[in-house]
Amino acid sequence: MDRLIVSVSGVRGTIGGSLSPQTACDFGCAFGTHVGAGKTIVLGRDSRPSGPMIRRAVAAGLQAVGVNVVDLGLLSTPGVGLMTRTLEAAGGVMITASHNPPAYNGIKFLQPHGPSLTAGQAEGLKRLWSDRAWSTVQTDRLGEMRSDQSTHERHRDAVLAITDVQAVRARGFRVVVDSINGAGCTVTPMLLEALGCDVVHLNGTPDGRFAHEPEPVEKNLGDLCKAVAEHDAAAGFAQDPDADRLVVVDETGRFIGEEYTLALCAAFVLRHRRGTLAANLATSRMIDDIAAEAGAEVVRAPTGEANVVEAMQREGCIFGGEGNGGVIDPRVVEVRDSLVGMAMLLQYLAETGKPLSELSGAIPRYALVKTKQPCPAGAIGRIIERTKVELGGETPVRFNEDDGLRADFADAWVSVRASNTEPIMRIFAEAPQRRRAEALVEQVKSIADGVIGQE
Ligand code: MG
Repeated sequence: MDRLIVSVSGVRGTIGGSLSPQTACDFGCAFGTHVGAGKTIVLGRDSRPSGPMIRRAVAAGLQAVGVNVVDLGLLSTPGVGLMTRTLEAAGGVMITASHNPPAYNGIKFLQPHGPSLTAGQAEGLKRLWSDRAWSTVQTDRLGEMRSDQSTHERHRDAVLAITDVQAVRARGFRVVVDSINGAGCTVTPMLLEALGCDVVHLNGTPDGRFAHEPEPVEKNLGDLCKAVAEHDAAAGFAQDPDADRLVVVDETGRFIGEEYTLALCAAFVLRHRRGTLAANLATSRMIDDIAAEAGAEVVRAPTGEANVVEAMQREGCIFGGEGNGGVIDPRVVEVRDSLVGMAMLLQYLAETGKPLSELSGAIPRYALVKTKQPCPAGAIGRIIERTKVELGGETPVRFNEDDGLRADFADAWVSVRASNTEPIMRIFAEAPQRRRAEALVEQVKSIADGVIGQE
């Protein structure tokens, strides 16, 4: 289905289809109106071949409503967030479709200081766009455009500033990185070399030719696993195309699961600092166990980076993120950042002297089953109502409806929610045994099928 998706996560569509340069320009006008004429915003893009075209269209819209643009070039989403804060810009724009296939591109909008727009702000922007509620300015007030190439150095240095560089350098780790020919290609080796690593770089040319499906999940990372074992590396790191997510392969070449990125980093953070953590509602219970052991708390937020960041700001969290491999350290930037994750994990290895397999093996294990299936527009409300009725018989159960529905039982949880960015629903369940998690997913699936069948 090729429709333009406009959500709290930004805009996403296909090139030659729903995401045209005209649409991108309109969103430039709308976002420029949202920040205000005379202000300055920073603009970056990932490595997709359509990036330069969409970037020029967005920039034209911004300039047309009197907003100045600083073009940061080809860089990661956290890099754009960092520069929004560094340059005290009124906002940021990142041209990326994250892990979606090459046919897609998208536009992500950032607040001053870096985090993506809140749900309320995104709703306001969508209204400006659909009402075409902007005024273009005359020649003397057009926005100016200049470029700034300093992001990679600044980003590297911001991550080094929170890392015990000497401890990591002393170990001289060999690491294999798969940057999927995406936005992480340039800055990632800069960071790892500064940390004294011997880097084997797979798919390290930022040309947007994704060498495998770009979502960093096990089935797409066979080459990385093989290379880690072959090169006798301490770790394998995989990024998504805009380098905000990180997943990890242990020293034996085993994919340890995207949920472990946040869990391992949380364990590392709590060795050094006391404070509250944040995670979304779809994130594994591992982080709760790790926090409980350290006497810390975890606050839960609806899915979507903006919601996690909002919870982190509200609760003054020292660290947070999402179970899809997104870690956030607000000292660097309030955006998920694969570079922060790598530096934390390398320091964790250095100071414990333990291999990744042992550190991940020490975390209480759960089976987290993640499925997705098509969801007709408008059906999710009735699916949630029906699920509550049917699961309500099983006691004790605690429902959370901040984001779709999550039902927590004593030993397990199951959630169902409609995606923000695709016409699908996601059903997740987690339990100590895989069989129990699968049964919960099947139960909710058949409830959803029943509801959809009645429509
Ligand atoms: Mg991403």
